[in-house]
Amino acid sequence: DQPVLIVGAGHAGFQLAVSLRQAGYGGPVSLINDEPHLPYQRPPLSKAYLKGGGRPDSVMFRPEKFYHDQHVDLIADRAVAIDRSARELVCASGASRAYKHLVLATGARNRLLDIPNAGLDDVLYLRTLDESETLRQRFGAGGRVVVVGAGFIGLEFAATARAKGLEVDVVELAPRVMARAVTPEISEFFQRRHIEAGIRLHFGVQATSITSNDGRVTGVTLSDGRQLVADLVVVGVGVLPNVELAAEADLPVASGIIVDEHLLTADPDISAIGDCALFASVRFGAPLRLESVQNATDQARCVAARLTGDTKSYDGLPWFWSDQGADKLQIAGLTTGYDQVVVRGNAGEGSFSAFCYKAGRLIGVESVNRGSDHVFGRRILAVNGSIAPDQAADLAFDLKKALA
Ligand code: FAD
Repeated sequence: DQPVLIVGAGHAGFQLAVSLRQAGYGGPVSLINDEPHLPYQRPPLSKAYLKGGGRPDSVMFRPEKFYHDQHVDLIADRAVAIDRSARELVCASGASRAYKHLVLATGARNRLLDIPNAGLDDVLYLRTLDESETLRQRFGAGGRVVVVGAGFIGLEFAATARAKGLEVDVVELAPRVMARAVTPEISEFFQRRHIEAGIRLHFGVQATSITSNDGRVTGVTLSDGRQLVADLVVVGVGVLPNVELAAEADLPVASGIIVDEHLLTADPDISAIGDCALFASVRFGAPLRLESVQNATDQARCVAARLTGDTKSYDGLPWFWSDQGADKLQIAGLTTGYDQVVVRGNAGEGSFSAFCYKAGRLIGVESVNRGSDHVFGRRILAVNGSIAPDQAADLAFDLKKALA
């Protein structure tokens, strides 16, 4: 009996192994892990773990015993090639592993900054546990950091670095923070909060080179000619999906490994899930690649169901969160393409939501410190429900009523 072989032990791969067992799958399950740790969670790496003094174990999904008990064969290795005709995975160790079904859960890797001196030791990224650990240790020394990119990870890092007493500059090409992901209402709120915390935000500029002395970073030069002093540069300019394994096996890839509404690749024996997968979204009627824990874990559950005889198309409702300083942002749905935004609550008081509409229908809810709006948004969007914009704006309107 050949195993369900899972490549990548991140959020998607781990969840698939767990969900297979929960669904009663009794055959062998192998999880190929190319990181030097037990499978772990990423969100805390730019949040609690970065801030606190927690041990690496605190971010592990489960202790080693769990894998033994669940008969999940956790294999320390790296997949390097797929032999589709033989249904075998070739690994860096030299081992060839046969599979009954192969699931690519290879995630994504940091997009690297491509400017002079970007390879110096003081230029750091934040995706893995080791990278978070390295950054955490840098806090003790104080100093000045330039964060390149005002996306979720850059901003979460910036807020923590500032709280730890560092001087922080954030450089962003777009005219506002998180520009690709949230409405201007949300960007404006977070900009104000970060500026109040003493972070300097620079919009409409790029880092063009890094200056150094004796191999140590001394600053960052911007596209408008300005020079920012720094002894540390943290880069958060997005990720690249790990599609190479699939591409080299002649599986179709574009901005992700292409899968259908069942998360199957062009090969009926190979699925792809999580950050690496460009899936045919039933909900949105278009190919979509998302980078979130929700997407990784719900897709894992969908494939586990299929492999245990319950085939359904993937139809998870996207949701996401980000903690920046004391503020919690939560997003339900996908707000791209909205044509109307209605604010509920009061941004000045630090608690509000942006209800996003497209052609009169609710498509997403972005909440700041309003957990109940987020929960409502998830529940209503999951059933393709909506409420009128004037109801959303009216704090006296009980959102729960719309669910009844
Ligand atoms: P990954 O978690 O990237 O796992 C893929 C794994 O596959 C990795 O371990 C990789 O090393 C391994 N791999 C790759 N190639 C091979 C190979 N050839 N052989 C073997 N193994 C391989 N999302 C949220 O929803 N909320 C948040 O607050 C949030 N915060 C985040 C904070 C940080 C710092 C980061 C980095 C991400 C955050 N995310 C958050 C995003 C979320 O963590 C990802 O969407 C999620 O991890 C995707 O899971 P995945 O399993 O698809 O990929």
